[in-house]
Amino acid sequence: MPPIQTIAVIGAGTMGSGIAHVFARSGFDVLLCDIQQAFLDQALARIRTNLGREAAKGKLPADQIEPAVARIRTTTDRAELASADFAIEAASERFELKAELFHSLDAILPPEAILATNTSSISITKLAAQTSGASRPAQVIGMHFFNPVPVMPLVEIIRGLQTGQTTYDAVRNLATKLGKTPIEVNDSPGFVSNRVLMPLINEAAFTVMEGVATAEAVDQVFQLGMAHPMGPLTLADFIGLDVCVDILRVLHQGLGDPKYRPCPLLVRMVDAGWLGRKSGRGFYQY
Ligand code: NAD
Repeated sequence: MPPIQTIAVIGAGTMGSGIAHVFARSGFDVLLCDIQQAFLDQALARIRTNLGREAAKGKLPADQIEPAVARIRTTTDRAELASADFAIEAASERFELKAELFHSLDAILPPEAILATNTSSISITKLAAQTSGASRPAQVIGMHFFNPVPVMPLVEIIRGLQTGQTTYDAVRNLATKLGKTPIEVNDSPGFVSNRVLMPLINEAAFTVMEGVATAEAVDQVFQLGMAHPMGPLTLADFIGLDVCVDILRVLHQGLGDPKYRPCPLLVRMVDAGWLGRKSGRGFYQY
């Protein structure tokens, strides 16, 4: 496996910008790709602010902020990703969108490049099947970062049925270089993190919908009674209620168990555009 220096990050939203941030901070060159230049400009501004916060906390020398930002090149043209040694897809959580991206990235990337996905719940095996050739499906893997990416130490590494050992070893090594702790899991809807977390968030939403307690009370039960640093509904607002509903649908469909049915209150809030922190309103106002 050739050395990995240039990283393509596809999708410059909450996660893609955080992923670009940690790779650039660790000395990698980053090609950050999204569908509109405005999204890329916002991502770069967010990365600069967050690097500044790290410097203010003494986690990064202040003179390393601009060199890190300078290592990130933005583009709306996928063809420019042809020079990447490694790609990680962090676009919206919809299978059709990711399938199209995988198909197209397979044709653009060099044959030896690994194609990872930050998906929260979609099958790595199905995404790998969107690629072709003798070796690419073995070079597809899940590399699941957590939000906020610069802060959270975990990377869940998910092997699809086709994922090769060399790919797994390379991604594990990359995660370690970023200062993260890799945990290996196998491909199953929601992997471990969201298979366990989303039913908690969903049930918390049901208690609010049924008038069992207010959102504040539900969150306090978990903070004060179970030593959670934040309650499940605060966390849901942070993740994005739309993302939560999308993941619950994947769990519901993929595992075929009605216990994963998204809470109607969550669905209604998403319909209203109350997506949590990113839209200014969710279970709380921001
Ligand atoms: P987001 O909505 O903040 O960002 C998604 C970005 O993808 C947007 O900027 C959008 O313009 C871009 N995009 C859409 N189609 C594209 C395309 N064809 N090419 C390039 N860019 C495209 O979403 P997010 O929260 O950053 O989630 C991204 C991925 O990470 C999803 O798969 C999600 O499940 C996963 N994830 C999210 C979290 C979280 O807490 N939000 C945590 C772990 C994993």
